[in-house]
Amino acid sequence: MQLSIVIPFYNEEESLPELISWIQRVVDTHRFSYEIIMVDDGSNDNSWEVVKKLQTQNEHIKGISFQRNYGKSAALNEAFKAALGDYIITMDADLQDSPDEIPELYEMITTGRYDIVSGWKKKRFDNALTKNIPSKLYNYVTGKLSGIQLHDMNCGLKIYRSKVIKSVEVYGEMHRYIPVLAKWAGFKK
Ligand code: UDP
Ligand code: MG
Repeated sequence: MQLSIVIPFYNEEESLPELISWIQRVVDTHRFSYEIIMVDDGSNDNSWEVVKKLQTQNEHIKGISFQRNYGKSAALNEAFKAALGDYIITMDADLQDSPDEIPELYEMITTGRYDIVSGWKKKRFDNALTKNIPSKLYNYVTGKLSGIQLHDMNCGLKIYRSKVIKSVEVYGEMHRYIPVLAKWAGFKK
């Protein structure tokens, strides 16, 4: 299997159907062999019911459900353990990451022989003051400290070689630093 597409979510009932049909369009067009791993991080809306319905329409969807909200890192970590694809894509559920970037990420990681390729969040719908400025500062500081230059380290959309992601344990707020963890483990981005 080429791709495991991992989607952690917390109360995203509204965006999940559109996200999944968009992903399906892209992977079908490019004839990827794939699975979608959807991790419900303790949602208290109808997200899990939505996932169960989507599973009846697409046999490639796997669901993992947490009893309570453990945070995005824990959700990713569980999905990484379950993933069977040669490459693992992570993306946010709130439609801030575009599935249209999946083929480019796959092309880059396979032909470039990289271990990690990061998407670059172009759309920022969030409030500029509370999100954009802290995000720029965070990218700058993390880049300086780690020596890894990414436009948006915290972008939810990334692709990893499977053996890379299976070598790191992600917990707490560490999902923001997976490329740094991978670098410490000796991989190249
Ligand atoms: N998320 C999650 N658990 C949480 C909080 C968020 O799984 O406790 C999911 C959320 O549903 C989304 C992704 O993680 O799919 C990114 O979350 P958010 O949009 O809040 O982060 P930001 O865009 O600020 O990086
Ligand atoms: Mg978001």
